[in-house]
Amino acid sequence: MRNVIPSPGWIGQADREQLLGQRGCVVWLTGLSGSGKSTIARELEATLLADGRLSYVLDGDNVRHGLNNDLGFSPSDRAENIRRLGEVAALFADAGVITITAFISPYRADRNAARAKLPEGRFLEVFCDALLAVCERRDPKGLYRRARAGQIAEFTGVDAPYEPPTKAELILPTGRAGVDECVSMVMSFLRQHGLLALATPSKEGR
Ligand code: ADP
Repeated sequence: MRNVIPSPGWIGQADREQLLGQRGCVVWLTGLSGSGKSTIARELEATLLADGRLSYVLDGDNVRHGLNNDLGFSPSDRAENIRRLGEVAALFADAGVITITAFISPYRADRNAARAKLPEGRFLEVFCDALLAVCERRDPKGLYRRARAGQIAEFTGVDAPYEPPTKAELILPTGRAGVDECVSMVMSFLRQHGLLALATPSKEGR
């Protein structure tokens, strides 16, 4: 944008991460409605809190009541929804927070654009992999029933597409495994990739 020059500030992400003892990152849950994104997000948040980690859940439905209350469900509005949420998630991660997002985010290109906002290794695309039939049977919010009755248009999986990830960091079998098992898989990934602990600074470095 002309005449607007970004300022990097004096304190960086690494300083905030040192304070928090964790790495800022985005755990981007994606999947059909009813595939378990919100459930996994809330359980993961609780597990991280019990482990002494600062995390924050950005829930798609909640954000649509505020920041994105001007957007609908057309392809272009969905893209703008995810663009804004990708920006917000990147800001939270820059603040050092383990940011968990629970958006259907049906389009691959939109998810890739959100990924591109984060440094390498700080964006985890996590596919909540449950069959449409399973999601529809669960129908936790009664939305499939309403979509099938023609009361909701452009509902993902019914009359709007869902593009499954092709390069997800993790695939959670949310259609057939338990919640605890799926959350453990995310925790293991975070641990194995050094996102939950920082190396203790060497004595010379202090
Ligand atoms: P979404 O946020 O993707 O729309 P929800 O989390 O609201 O989905 O609903 C998923 C439903 O499936 C919940 O009722 C949850 O209890 C159930 N469920 C069963 N197994 C799992 C699992 N492994 N992971 C997540 N949810 C599960």
